[in-house]
Amino acid sequence: MVAFRSMRLPLLLLLLNATFGSAHRWFNWQYEVSCESDTFIAPADEKGVADFLKKEFPKQSHIKVVGNGHGFGNLTTCTNKGSTNKTSHIVSLTNLKKLEINKDMTVTVGAGWEVYDLVNELKEHNLSFNYLGAMRVQNIVGAISTGTHGTGQNITNMATQVVSLRVADARGEIRTIDAHKNAEEMKAFRINLGALGLITEITLKVQPTHFLKKTTKVLNATADYTKLYTELADLYKKHDRMTVWGPHFNWDAKAEDWVIEPTFYASWWEPTNYTGVRNCTLNYCANGCGDCIKDYVCYDETSDAVSCPPQGICSSQFYAEIEHFFPMEHFVDAAVNYTKYQQAQTPKMKGFENEKMIFQFRALGGDDSYMSPANTYNLSSENSGVFAVLEIDWMQKVNHWDTLYNNQQFAYDFQDEFGSVYNARSHWNKMSPNNPKHTLAVFPKLPEFLKIQERQDPNCQFANDFLVNQLGIERCRPALNL
Ligand SMILES: Cc1cc2nc3c(=O)[nH]c(=O)nc-3n(C[C@H](O)[C@H](O)[C@H](O)COP(=O)(O)OP(=O)(O)OC[C@H]3O[C@@H](n4cnc5c(N)ncnc54)[C@H](O)[C@@H]3O)c2cc1C
Repeated sequence: MVAFRSMRLPLLLLLLNATFGSAHRWFNWQYEVSCESDTFIAPADEKGVADFLKKEFPKQSHIKVVGNGHGFGNLTTCTNKGSTNKTSHIVSLTNLKKLEINKDMTVTVGAGWEVYDLVNELKEHNLSFNYLGAMRVQNIVGAISTGTHGTGQNITNMATQVVSLRVADARGEIRTIDAHKNAEEMKAFRINLGALGLITEITLKVQPTHFLKKTTKVLNATADYTKLYTELADLYKKHDRMTVWGPHFNWDAKAEDWVIEPTFYASWWEPTNYTGVRNCTLNYCANGCGDCIKDYVCYDETSDAVSCPPQGICSSQFYAEIEHFFPMEHFVDAAVNYTKYQQAQTPKMKGFENEKMIFQFRALGGDDSYMSPANTYNLSSENSGVFAVLEIDWMQKVNHWDTLYNNQQFAYDFQDEFGSVYNARSHWNKMSPNNPKHTLAVFPKLPEFLKIQERQDPNCQFANDFLVNQLGIERCRPALNL
């Protein structure tokens, strides 16, 4: 029933069977977040998933279903072996490789598909996804479960492409959730944070393969942030689908201060009838990797134009990253104040191994998934429903634990500072701080989500520290010894 097969992306998810005993260690992509379970389970099929869960339900074992661990926080950690008197399992659905191309421009896929492999497979059928993250290195269900997104004011996160899914609850009962028949419930399951059960397959909207034109322009930086961000806001008025890589700052070790780089760049994508040579992946600038600060135009099939394959990961060194979503109307004000706040933190960064700091901006259409960081539930009629997405990356010279912990610590402070001012929401897999009060304010459907979570997981087997502390699931504290 249970099979073990090696992962397609071993650098992203490393499960080590300890030399002594039977512990299994899970790591995130830069290996700085990890946990250790008693077992690693990879069921051969959906029935194997149900049988495993039925067997574990009476024992109330801890079960963490994992994708590829492509995240910055502890969203996906298992319960550490020995921290309670129950067995802890890591479960991967990597063996569930069903693929059906349906007649209604949808595909039904098993939970084992990597986004990269799936995109390649779809290309063989002249199909593609319209919406992807900047990299396609995740597991498909892992990507959907956190609301992975790219950029575009008329584009929503990947989870909005889900039209139905099959999910096993803690008792091992499998149900189909369908966007038409179970419309309200689907809003909870699309972005589920791994809290609502083991999703065994999903049906997603696809589209015919087409080309996009990508234009990249070098922009001049200035320390007059109001001017800089007003110019970017103007660019967003002209370009629906745009990512801005910058401003960039370099750490001046002598002065112990950040120095702004004179230039940075923006890329935007638009439809085209071009069908010639495909050349956007000559470098990996959709992911900021390579010689990117230059003016150029390229053309490519949509997924290759907007996102990078695993080869486009140019660094998996330690770095801290935040990503906040806030209504587009706050763009200039928020960008200025985040930048100034960051500058005010500089004294805290002295004496560490800092190298580079990159601001990045994207846009995203709002949606109505309960746990979507771009949910529109608490917006007023004055809001357009479009979100700005601000990311800050703190890169370091060498992998240095103290630098990482220091940067991660103050990275959390941004949400306390600006969360309620700008209605800002953190990306679930990027340094999201524990603050259930703020979570409730910006995810007003949290109580409905938690009701479904209790139904799906009455004994808190799927819960972990992250879910309990972020969502305030008090009933699960005793089960985890928290
Ligand atoms: C360098 C870097 C760049 C990134 N760029 C982007 C970006 O451009 N845009 C963006 O939005 N995000 C981005 N992310 C975040 C990341 O891609 C997503 O958050 C994504 O969820 C990771 O997918 P994974 O399969 O690796 O997930 P994991 O972390 O392994 O899993 C994510 C969640 O899905 C759950 N899960 C996995 N499989 C199942 C299943 N079968 N059933 C139920 N639940 C399941 C897990 O329990 C967990 O809660 C980036 C992360 C990194 C490290």
